[in-house]
Amino acid sequence: MTPLGTLSRDELVAFRRRIEEQYGAFRARGLHLDLTRGKPAPEQLDLSNPLLELPGWGNYRAADGSDCRNYFGDPAGLPEARVLFAPLLGATPDQVLIGDNSSLALMHDAIAYALLHGVPTPDKPGGAAPWGGGEPIAFLCPSPGYDRHFALCEGFGIRMIPIALTGEGPDLAAVERQVAADPAIKGIWCVPKYSNPTGEIYAPATIARLAAMKVAARDFRLFWDNAYAVHHLTETRHEIDSVLEACVRAGQPDRALVFASTSKITFAGAGLALMAASRANLAWFLRHAGRRSIGPDKLNQLRHVRLLQDTAGIAALMDRHRRLLAPKFRAVDETFTRLLGGAGIASWSKPAGGYFVSLDVEIGSAQRVAALAAAAGIALVPAGRTFPYGKDPHDRNLRLAPSFPPAGEVARAAEGVALAVLMAATEALLRTNDLDAAAEVA
Ligand code: PLP
Repeated sequence: MTPLGTLSRDELVAFRRRIEEQYGAFRARGLHLDLTRGKPAPEQLDLSNPLLELPGWGNYRAADGSDCRNYFGDPAGLPEARVLFAPLLGATPDQVLIGDNSSLALMHDAIAYALLHGVPTPDKPGGAAPWGGGEPIAFLCPSPGYDRHFALCEGFGIRMIPIALTGEGPDLAAVERQVAADPAIKGIWCVPKYSNPTGEIYAPATIARLAAMKVAARDFRLFWDNAYAVHHLTETRHEIDSVLEACVRAGQPDRALVFASTSKITFAGAGLALMAASRANLAWFLRHAGRRSIGPDKLNQLRHVRLLQDTAGIAALMDRHRRLLAPKFRAVDETFTRLLGGAGIASWSKPAGGYFVSLDVEIGSAQRVAALAAAAGIALVPAGRTFPYGKDPHDRNLRLAPSFPPAGEVARAAEGVALAVLMAATEALLRTNDLDAAAEVA
């Protein structure tokens, strides 16, 4: 397609008329399509249906013989579950904690414990001053990012500082400058692989620098949410360096708290939440978590161990997810390429994994695109949601989640979104054209 910015006014008017017709016809179909939340589709959930019958009648003992129906033992989780998930977390089994079903809940609790009790530091292994005890604190928020991370900060009254992304992780120069200067900055959100929503894969140098950077706050933490560690969309299983090992190498063994879950491996509503951290961090977390609960659901841990068995078992299941998901992401890319390619008004991510496509439209038009898409029957996450406080400073980014609807519906929804993008862009270009003409007359 010819870049729209190079069309003459007459060409633009003619093009606009064609797009209006196509958009109107799309709208008249009265569709109801939803690209809002990154949920697994029912056929993905079906892959783990054996869980519904595991561990099986009378089969409730862990490898060490303990009864998973009862209160018992190590609050960090079943030893065999910790062994199973350690590689996914880039950790050793003794660094792993298995929670209930939501990693977001573990992140929430880690922040709550830090605010109330402080986190361990070399001079105060039991916990330094509570984060919430003095001046308001802040987190760095690489953006576009995960809206629920930002909602946690907002809920706790933690000031959010947006940081740009580079394609290989956050803008490190900006991160290093800010954390070195401001002791109020206690954390940074990192989704290091197949980031939500941009698909970022953190480079080894990025991980090394985050582990080693000089921070003004001695009790600073990397909130390392590796939610998509094994969620590949291509045959290449991208690997990233272990942040826990990088932190040890940098002499900062307690800097990272690593999170993940099986929400998009087995059942999103009934999986396992995972955490990995240094011995000091794990003891700290368990001390506070032990007051909150006598322990997590061990039958679910046993069930997951029986289903997944080992790293190869997880990889085999994720291959089956990939075969279901990849065509949906292809449908988005092919539709956008066909309708928007070369127009010079939008760019979108082609993620190698994860659950999202990040769509950047013309500055100042994301809200308009979302409204036009909604009018055509396509639900999108509200524009701005991928930024702290729900405010995209450039009103440019939209997050699309193609995982749940069938591939045919995803393609139709992508077509409607592309038409909305073209509508918004031609509107804006004609407006600019009119303003330029008026300025010439004046
Ligand atoms: N972290 C990221 C980056 C996510 O995208 C999501 C879900 O979309 C979650 C965490 C939620 O994880 P959980 O279901 O384990 O709470």
